[in-house]
Amino acid sequence: MSFKTLGLSEALLKAIEKKGYSVPSPIQEKAIPRILERKDVLASAQTGTGKTAGFALPILQILSQSAPLRKRPIRSLILTPTRELAAQVLQDFKDYGEFVDLRSTVVFGGVGANPQIRTLRQGVDILVATPGRLLDLENQGALSLANVEVLVLDEADRMLDMGFLRDIKKILALLPSRRQNLLFSATFSKEIKQLANGFLHHPVMVEA
Ligand code: AMP
Repeated sequence: MSFKTLGLSEALLKAIEKKGYSVPSPIQEKAIPRILERKDVLASAQTGTGKTAGFALPILQILSQSAPLRKRPIRSLILTPTRELAAQVLQDFKDYGEFVDLRSTVVFGGVGANPQIRTLRQGVDILVATPGRLLDLENQGALSLANVEVLVLDEADRMLDMGFLRDIKKILALLPSRRQNLLFSATFSKEIKQLANGFLHHPVMVEA
């Protein structure tokens, strides 16, 4: 199996080559084709399995297949439990997206909101965020989630452990009902299954 046979574009293959990856990891091999088919995906994957590229590559491909929208509304939202993970996920989007015309940024708490608001004002196609700061910015009118086409909950189990369930529910209510949903989690407790049942539509299950 190669990245090319997974159906990724030349622009993404070039970035993957630059990163030095030779073959897809198991989670990438299983998740990427299903995400490209626009299925909802429930993925069981630990950190270190290559899960980030497992969702970032197909999202970049999906969004780059159509011309960028004029005002660059947020078309993909990636929720993560911590700012460290959010920053890492953004860096991966930047690396894999080097040769496609898409803008991405990150918002998280613990730092001033103004630089984040200024970046958002210029338009971003892909937003990586921690839940609390995302809701603050939405409440202030600094961003709109009305155009989100692809949602990712990354490390969903850690988000629940950190008490983000209420925030996640509030965020889900702000998204358009027609969208693709991806949930990545290392563990599958009753709570995670309940959350997944509540918002995934006929999900395909994949395991690292
Ligand atoms: P993650 O599980 O997303 O945190 O990724 C773990 C590490 O694996 C990161 O440092 C990635 O750069 C790296 N990685 C992701 N996909 C591949 C691949 N197909 N081949 C080699 N390394 C990879």
